[in-house]
Amino acid sequence: MKALEGKNAYITGASRGIGKGIAMEFARQGANIAITDLRQSDLTPELIAEFESHGVKCIAIAADASSMADTQAAIDATVAAFGSIDIVVNNAGITMDNLLLRMSEEQFDTVIRVNLKSAFNSTKAVLKPMLKQRSGSIINISSIVGVTGNAGQANYAASKAGMIAFTQSTAKELGSRGIRANAIAPGFIATEMTHHLPEADLKRWLDSIPLQRPGSVQDIADLCVFLGSDKSTYITGQTIHVNGGMYV
Ligand code: NAD
Repeated sequence: MKALEGKNAYITGASRGIGKGIAMEFARQGANIAITDLRQSDLTPELIAEFESHGVKCIAIAADASSMADTQAAIDATVAAFGSIDIVVNNAGITMDNLLLRMSEEQFDTVIRVNLKSAFNSTKAVLKPMLKQRSGSIINISSIVGVTGNAGQANYAASKAGMIAFTQSTAKELGSRGIRANAIAPGFIATEMTHHLPEADLKRWLDSIPLQRPGSVQDIADLCVFLGSDKSTYITGQTIHVNGGMYV
């Protein structure tokens, strides 16, 4: 039997990168998937067909994860299509890097809204259906820098640290109702987000990884499958690091 057979999942920011990889692995493992992203044009029929080639249902919804209204509508549409939501992956995220001296208030606010408030939005929106079914797994994609901090990323690191505390609080508040929440803290994963880093930064990051390679989208997707599955039912409130030993 596939690890997520019969489950329904909701994944934000899933048209590319880590989110797409998670959605693909979920589909391979038998879950129906609702994928969201900012633009309808990124949620192409070809992408949906690729997910559905694994024999599952996929619905694609254009929704700004930082908007409560968009998120509520997307969660409602998912429940209407699938009947329930068993797994939520809060993956949508952005960077707006700058040294503090140059960081604008807008850069700070926007990153907090997209990365942190988005997790609040979908957790809140999915609460009713999850409380009703007395089960659910919420997975928040944080980051290594949410634990270590990083020069030039005060907004991003704060948003990712916030996700960790949000996850811990969610786990404490909802554990008695059968709902689990965990965070994943990826290190350096090769995606479009990291593709545009300057050569010197790239080398500095790679030099600090004991396993001497960037992580892959699949490394994160495999852990999401485990945390979404019934193989992890005693794990909640945790932050699991996937970083090649970069932070130990
Ligand atoms: P990416 O930029 O390749 O993909 C992010 C996706 O989120 C895009 O499809 C984008 O359109 C979508 N998105 C952005 N804002 C959105 C919004 N407001 N609403 C809905 N969707 C939105 O990035 P990635 O590397 O795949 O990163 C995915 C997640 O993993 C992010 O939360 C990121 O912070 C986290 N992360 C990435 C790395 C890494 O090394 N790549 C490391 C640690 C954490």
